[in-house]
Formats: sequence, structure tokens, C-alpha cells
Amino acid sequence: MALEFTVRDDQQYTDQARLDEIFANPGFGDHFTDHMAVATWTKEKDWHDAGVVRYGSLASDPASAVFHYAQEIFEGLKAYRRADGSVWLFRPEANGERLRNSAARLALPQLPVEDFVAGVRALVEVDQRWVPGGAEQSLYLRPFTIANENFLGVRAAHTATFCVIASPVGAYFKGGVSAVDIWVSLDSSRAGAGGTGAAKCGGNYAASLQATNEAYAHGCSQVLFLDATDRSHIDELGGMNFFVITRDGQLVTPELTGNILPGITRDSILTMAPDIGFTPVERRITLQEVLDGIADGSIVEAFACGTAAVVTPIASLTVRDQVHRLPEVAESQSLDIRQRLVDIQYGRAEDPYGWTH
Ligand code: PMP
Repeated sequence: MALEFTVRDDQQYTDQARLDEIFANPGFGDHFTDHMAVATWTKEKDWHDAGVVRYGSLASDPASAVFHYAQEIFEGLKAYRRADGSVWLFRPEANGERLRNSAARLALPQLPVEDFVAGVRALVEVDQRWVPGGAEQSLYLRPFTIANENFLGVRAAHTATFCVIASPVGAYFKGGVSAVDIWVSLDSSRAGAGGTGAAKCGGNYAASLQATNEAYAHGCSQVLFLDATDRSHIDELGGMNFFVITRDGQLVTPELTGNILPGITRDSILTMAPDIGFTPVERRITLQEVLDGIADGSIVEAFACGTAAVVTPIASLTVRDQVHRLPEVAESQSLDIRQRLVDIQYGRAEDPYGWTH
């Protein structure tokens, strides 16, 4: 039976003056709305007790499984305010599907997609005034599931909580929409064959943080990870998928090997590609062929893509002490792809794919 996210609290705790202050400089993940959606799962009762409640701490026992064995998964999607004031979601059922796949990999309960979408919608409806309307702004939604059985045995927990929180956001990178410098991690991997790379689980991100600190120390803002097996193929960035644009109009991205997160932005771009004059290509790509392509001009642009940063052009790839700069382009094709995507998301262009709700 479908879950009903009953609204148990609809009071607005944050006044408009404070909202305006937050919207003037929202940052990313710094502020949270007045409510959260929650649902409980137990082995005996399946999913139940769904609702929208006041945002606040989740009481957890120190023996809770999530604290010890990282049995946790999450999602990221956005609600967009359009020029007419209406609020829209972008492909929420794709996030719901991905959460189910992540749940299967982490031996967590799989929430039906319709319940996922219902939870997200219920929260956005109650906290609609938190969806900012400024340029590049949106309400970032963070659904997640944690195992919270109080038990230290190493096995799949028998109780879990699904929760959705929301945060008004602006541009993901501090510099706004400008090209980013990328650190290529030669020493550490985020995911190995047979591991959890294709799942969106907290552990993958914990495993990426050391390399991210290394990136910062080298003046870069994201890490590009290589295939853990042969250390020569490109997987993805710490929180985004990777694309290059070739001189002959191919949009090339690493194929889904099971170690890469199947990004919804990645999929959207591959779907749009033929309609906007590109040939989409999913295949294994070596770091060396990208460096050679930058050097000989056959690769004209590279970009990172994901919900948070949409499409962000890459300015350079740093491999140890070598900085490989992408050429400066007068008219960025990456930014054009970005524009086409955000125009669909914000309802400024037609949505022939049926992605917006
Ligand atoms: N790869 C990783 C590791 C990510 O965390 C994300 C962000 N969810 C992506 C790729 C892009 O996925 P999406 O386009 O669905 O946001």
C-alpha cells in the first residue's frame, strides 16, 4: 500500500525577512527548511509511519548500525522555481530508482519509487516558500536512508529510517559558473571492482575526502578518480560525472562499469545529445588519451556534470606536478549544453522528454 506522508506540522518557523536574507546568499547546504519528511521501516512491518514533521535532530542510540558499519545511502535532486512562481521537480522518479539500486547494494530496505516521490513532494509542498527564485538558485533535496537498529553484530539491520531534508542553494562552486581546476588522483581510488561505486552510499564519499584535501592543497576544487584496477582509465569525479567534447562533435563519457555512479545529469545529457548536434559516446577512456587529445587539439572541452553543479567546464587537469590546460574557447559548448538543460529545468524551454513534474 502506498505510503501517505501525513503533514504533522505545517507551522512556518522562519519569517520572510530571514528567508530573504538566506536567499541573498544561500551557499550550498548551509541552511535547512522548517520541515523534513520521514518514514520508518522494520523487518516486521515494512515501511510505515510516514509524515512531514518539524526539522530537527534524529534521536539515535550510539549502537545504531549506521554509526559503525556505514549502512547508509542518499540521493540529491532539486526543486526549481519558475518565472510564473510555480515549483517543479526534475526526474524525481530517476532518483527514486537509483535509491532503490543503492539500497539493494547496501542491504537496506527498498522504498517504492512512488513513495520516494510522495515524500519529496510532500516536503516541497509544505516548505514551498523555501524554494528561492533567483538566478541559478533552487531547493536542493537530500533524501537518505539509514540503518538504525541498535545492534553491533555485522549483518543487515532490521530497522531503518528514510528522511528527506531540504536546503536552498545557489551555485555549487564558490566561483559561481566558471571553469574549475581538477586534481587527478593517482594514488587513491573511490571504488573498486565489485565494490559500491555505482551506489550512492556515504562510504564512497568518506573514501574520497583524503584525495579532496590533496586537491585543495594543489589549488584544485574536485578530484578525478581513475579505475581502481588498472589505474589508467577515467572513472568520475568525487561528486560528478566526466565528459569530453571532441573536435568532431562527440560527447564522450566513461561507460557505466559498475564502479561509476549513473548520474541523472549524465543520462539527461546523453539523451539530449543527438537533438543538440552531438554524437553521444559511452566507452572506456584512458587518462593518457585525454591528455594527448588536449595536447593535439582533438579534445576541445571537458566538463563535469551533476545535479549540484549542473554542467561545469573544466579548466585544467593536474597530474602530479603537471598542469594540462584545456584551451580557452570563445564560445563554450559545455556552457551551451548547461543552458539547454537549465532552460528545461526552469521551464524556459520545452521539455520534450517529460522530465519535469
Ligand atoms: N558521480 C558522483 C560520485 C556523484 O556524487 C554525483 C552526484 N549525485 C554524480 C556523479 C552526478 O549524479 P547526478 O547527475 O544524478 O546528480
